Amino acid sequence: MITTTAQACPSCEEPVQIGPSVRLNEILECAGCRSELEIVALSPLVLALAPEVEEDWGE
Ligand SMILES: [Zn+2]
Repeated sequence: MITTTAQACPSCEEPVQIGPSVRLNEILECAGCRSELEIVALSPLVLALAPEVEEDWGE
């Protein structure tokens, strides 16, 4: 059974909807505070604020 879960944003505690197909290290945006949240664990699911560093991923 596929379910969508919600995790509290670590910054503002707004529930963040997390779909069934999320992957580890995926970045989500909190609808409440616009923080970027990284999936740091899947079982159980853990969200963490993504580091605000300038990543150079190239083009
Ligand atoms: Zn938030």
